[in-house]
Amino acid sequence: MDSTPLCNLHFVFIPIMSSSHLLPMVDMAKMFARRKVKVSIVTTPLNSIHFQASIDREIHSGSPIQILHVQFPWAEAGLPEGCESADTLLSMDLLSKFTVAMDLLQRPIEELLQNQSPFPSCIIADQSFTCMADVVDKLHVPRIIFNGRNCFFLLCCHILQKDKVHEDVSYNEKFLVPGMPDRIELRRSQLPGILQPGTDLKLQACREATREAAKKAYGIVVNSFEELEPKYLEEYERLTEHKVWCVGPVSLCNKDDIEKGSRSKRNSSDESKYVKWLDSWPARSVIYVCLGSLNRVIPEQLIELGLGLEATKRPFIWVLRGAYGREEIEKWLLEDGFEERVKGRGILIKGWVPQVLILSHRAIGAFLTHCGWNSTLEGICAGVPLVTFPLFSEQFLNEKVVVQVVGNGVSLGAESVVHLGEEDKARVQVRREKIADSIEKVMGEGKEKEVIRETARNYAAMARKTIEEGGSSYNNMSMLIKDIARFKMPKKM
Ligand code: UDP
Repeated sequence: MDSTPLCNLHFVFIPIMSSSHLLPMVDMAKMFARRKVKVSIVTTPLNSIHFQASIDREIHSGSPIQILHVQFPWAEAGLPEGCESADTLLSMDLLSKFTVAMDLLQRPIEELLQNQSPFPSCIIADQSFTCMADVVDKLHVPRIIFNGRNCFFLLCCHILQKDKVHEDVSYNEKFLVPGMPDRIELRRSQLPGILQPGTDLKLQACREATREAAKKAYGIVVNSFEELEPKYLEEYERLTEHKVWCVGPVSLCNKDDIEKGSRSKRNSSDESKYVKWLDSWPARSVIYVCLGSLNRVIPEQLIELGLGLEATKRPFIWVLRGAYGREEIEKWLLEDGFEERVKGRGILIKGWVPQVLILSHRAIGAFLTHCGWNSTLEGICAGVPLVTFPLFSEQFLNEKVVVQVVGNGVSLGAESVVHLGEEDKARVQVRREKIADSIEKVMGEGKEKEVIRETARNYAAMARKTIEEGGSSYNNMSMLIKDIARFKMPKKM
């Protein structure tokens, strides 16, 4: 960096307690600290356990980074003991209590921040941590929001919230999103909850308040990179005049296997087992299947997925996760003999895997993903084609980014969001034949497959370059730091 003084800058990161928000914010925090800006991450003791080793390593290499703890008020909110992360909720009925617990953190976080030295120069708070807008605004420091999504999502939401074209079509009808740089068609059934017209007035009011708070923020940091979606970034900035800094892909800050493995440590003992198994397969031969940290896919759909994988006759790692429908799945695995039939060429993991580490292995040839934005971007960084199976939230929009904007994957053809907590209404959306056929579209011989694979490799190369010195994300991070350094100056005079 140049002559801008950084020694007094203090960037505070406040993620919500959910892996898919915590992981990218911790990666981002590490990247800022490597630029010698003092960085604090505010979270709860149980959440920090998973990335403590990674932060210790950063401190050891000289980064000015620390974790600031607040106790999670699970008891006051009526949650079970130790329930401190959205992805450990046993039932989605507990989500409202989880929101109450996060609201209760307003006061303790405010007190914590008021006592920091140096005083925070800016606060990068998760947009979903709604009460943080008030906390930060009271401290009179720039509030920067992180919402975990991409520019395509930001633009699409901005347009639909304004034009409301989706409100004039029936639930399953396709409509064209006006004003998008590419011809983007969606169904209302594929839109995230925030874009669904609703009757719950309290929820609508809360969404409106979040939107208003976002409008008043100093700017927004995005875990994406300019080369990935330049037209979407440009158009969003033009329409909203928001300051946007694309500083990703942040998972790439984890360079060696130790860093990738310790990015979120949950079951360290198995890590080397998976890597050893992958070592035994040829390059680009294994399908990696993971549907994120929150998924609650119904057993019938999981069975179709398993049978589709079996039909490919290819090696695979399938992260089953899930408490949802666990017994049925266990019964199927046992009684149907699936595990026995795929023994040797299929690994089933019922817990957590070090995804970034696995994806970076040379044996991985395709990633069947639910299109959570982190996973999508991690897949892009791995340079392997994606087979897309969006489930909920904005994942159908991310699928469009993959299949239409970037062109590094194929869709399984799911048509409707299954909102978290509404799994009982879900049905099978994708059959085994389609799953096997789609995987074959990106694996094996053939000119079209090679085009997709080459696109995937090219974007991975761009991703790596963008975070290196001189790359666009590197420069954007520099600009953000300078911007905050300048913002402080008038206050000092
Ligand atoms: N993840 C992981 N191991 C798992 C499942 C998920 O490391 O077994 C990580 C993954 O690398 C990603 C995040 O958890 O960074 C999931 O975020 P994403 O936005 O893809 O999906 P969500 O969990 O919100 O559905």
